[in-house]
Amino acid sequence: MKNKKNIMIGTIVIVLLALGLFIYQKFVKQQLHFKDDLTVEINGKFDPLSYISEVEHGNIKEVTCQSKNLNIKKLGEYEIVYTYKNRDYEAMIQVVDTTKPVFNGLNDLAVSINTTPDLKAGVEVSDNSLEEIKYKIDDKKIDTSKEGTYEVTYSAKDSSGNKIIAKRKIEVIKKIGSEQQSNEKVVYLTFDDGPSENTKKIMDILAKYNAKATFFVTGRNQKYNYLIKDAYNAGHTIGLHTYSHDYQTVYSSVEAYFDDLNKVGQMVKNEIGFVPHYIRFPGGSSNTISRKYCQGIMSTLTKEVIEKGYQYYDWNGDSTDASGNHVAVDKLIRNGTLCHDNNVMILCHDTQAKDTTVQALPAIIEHYRNLGYTFKGIDDTTYTPQQGVNN
Ligand SMILES: [Zn+2]
Repeated sequence: MKNKKNIMIGTIVIVLLALGLFIYQKFVKQQLHFKDDLTVEINGKFDPLSYISEVEHGNIKEVTCQSKNLNIKKLGEYEIVYTYKNRDYEAMIQVVDTTKPVFNGLNDLAVSINTTPDLKAGVEVSDNSLEEIKYKIDDKKIDTSKEGTYEVTYSAKDSSGNKIIAKRKIEVIKKIGSEQQSNEKVVYLTFDDGPSENTKKIMDILAKYNAKATFFVTGRNQKYNYLIKDAYNAGHTIGLHTYSHDYQTVYSSVEAYFDDLNKVGQMVKNEIGFVPHYIRFPGGSSNTISRKYCQGIMSTLTKEVIEKGYQYYDWNGDSTDASGNHVAVDKLIRNGTLCHDNNVMILCHDTQAKDTTVQALPAIIEHYRNLGYTFKGIDDTTYTPQQGVNN
């Protein structure tokens, strides 16, 4: 009898203990645990569940959060409320700014000797606070009267005191290009107006002959812009030919020209990481069409591009593929192989309408190859054919 009673008491005690433990776990003990760091960067991505370190007796999917108080665009402390198994948990989330501003456009810059480089051109500073950040330039170390490599320091600070200091390499060079031809027999094939439907075909032909070339690109056919990077990676040179290639636009004023040039420069930079300093004027530097839009503009532009660290290239060989669309292949080959200077820079075009240029290319390459020429892309020492300014 006594034994039976003891068993009963024992059972009741165990049941009560289990019940107590259950109530403690369910209603007393904290079930949602938070991490120590309850901060989020201003204008960053706020993920409320990322602050939870542990969910007892359940799954994080059962946790909901009410965070409409929080203003991610403004520094401060905000209360947000989590709900888990019918219980609310408050947490104070702090919107902070610990991220430094970032400089964009501090690519290496080549400038001609005795010119004043525009150290602000193409430079931007951005910050996660989205505020407009002013920056300082320390250019004391540059001596533009002497060739050499210099370092310029850019610094910026956001309103939370996060500071960035960045260095930029500035190369003061004698002048890009050479007025003299080299002794080496070199053909510089140049393709204007691309990228286009034909760029890939041109590159395939060049690859077949292990020939390098230069592409003076525009912003008119941007679905092929990936080919700018492909061409660069294949060892070809990328040059700038203006963004719009619209004579009326680019030659309406000096300012309009540089706006357009900067635009194509940034476009190319998005593909290859820097702004090339080789340019070709639409119509060449000797064009007369620009007279119609701005008297004397070519005289100014040809000087100013050099002062800004660019060099411009005309040509001493011409496939004459600009004389019309679908010009006969044999005519292109004949005209494209006329020049036998040591350094030949041949004008060709890279657009959908210039299929016959693609067809003529192998014969033009073979002609010069048989005469011992190699095929290179433009570099800083390349002969610079310039035809003379007529406006
Ligand atoms: Zn052109």
